[in-house]
Amino acid sequence: MHPVIEYFREQQASLEATLRAMVEFETPTNRPDLVNRMGQWVAVEFEALGGRVSIDRQTHTGDNVIGRFGPENRENGILLVGHMDTVYPEGTLARQPFRITGNAINGPGVMDMKGGLAIMLHSLKALRGIGRNPSLPITVIFNSDEETGSHYSEKIIHQESRRSRCALVYEPSQQMPFFSLRGQGSAGLRVLISGIPCHVLDPERCDQNPVLESARQLVRLESMNNEERGTLVCPTKIQGHGTVRNMVPDNVLVECRLRAYTQDGMDWLVDELKSLKPHYSRTGVQTEIVQGRKPFGPGEETERFFSVLRQAGDTMHLPVERHPGFGSSDANTVAETGVPVIDCLGVVGAGAHSDHETADRDAFPLRAAIATEFLARLAC
Ligand SMILES: [Zn+2]
Repeated sequence: MHPVIEYFREQQASLEATLRAMVEFETPTNRPDLVNRMGQWVAVEFEALGGRVSIDRQTHTGDNVIGRFGPENRENGILLVGHMDTVYPEGTLARQPFRITGNAINGPGVMDMKGGLAIMLHSLKALRGIGRNPSLPITVIFNSDEETGSHYSEKIIHQESRRSRCALVYEPSQQMPFFSLRGQGSAGLRVLISGIPCHVLDPERCDQNPVLESARQLVRLESMNNEERGTLVCPTKIQGHGTVRNMVPDNVLVECRLRAYTQDGMDWLVDELKSLKPHYSRTGVQTEIVQGRKPFGPGEETERFFSVLRQAGDTMHLPVERHPGFGSSDANTVAETGVPVIDCLGVVGAGAHSDHETADRDAFPLRAAIATEFLARLAC
């Protein structure tokens, strides 16, 4: 057996204990006080691993915690990025506690992405444990607001990316062989549908009813889910301003999430949305797009780093394949600086953002082993 796999098989209990400790910090993005409690724990862990810690203070979100390992210089090293925040509100842990049953590890954030954070911490520990000292600086960012788009951590991620030769992101993977070299673009969409308030008995009420108009627009939005172009429009929120049942309201607001695999797909989507027209004669449709993350795909440099990952997999007899389709993450944030990035180095799991979020227990040490061997080949 490959020595790094052997090492992590022996570390299984320790990996799980680290994951449990992190899951038991509840860290919803909108609670900086709770995220900071975990951040303080992380700072102590970084120090115990021989890291030099700095805190990127924030006011609207939790602080970002940065650990620096290996040589003191900060240029041309390897950047590792993971997020501490989860989508689960405080109190979720009481009904969805950390537990291990058979091959399943459950709990809020086990796969997205505290399992990935556990791999990051244990990779750093393993490099010392197996005597492979980094000859390049390794910078680790644990950020606090990925789930809401990394608006406040973007600055530090950009800054550290620009200093690095490549970056690794530890989002989860759906299957053992998959690692991701691309990221979807994302954006927010608001569609404001206006009408003319009137009594429900008004003979022309159909022509001015924004609720009926919103139904027409929703069907139109659904038609923009285009597999060939790799575009997705998902309505997530609808608000009518009606106050009583016997009156047509003045407007309806539909909010959606937009996704696209390529900039061409995103541009097509934006053009389609701009051309939305009302179906009825006395309603209005106004769209507003809130730019999110830009899509990216692999360049030559990324392919080179991916071949290092493949070689690591080959020597360990572990499969390495490209993820057929992954969403967006901090890998998009890194990619904005032009630095090559590989994502999905975290655990294998399913059910992210749900009450059955699960990490695969058997795959955990194997994913940790391949991520560690890859990091060692890049940095040591
Ligand atoms: Zn995530």
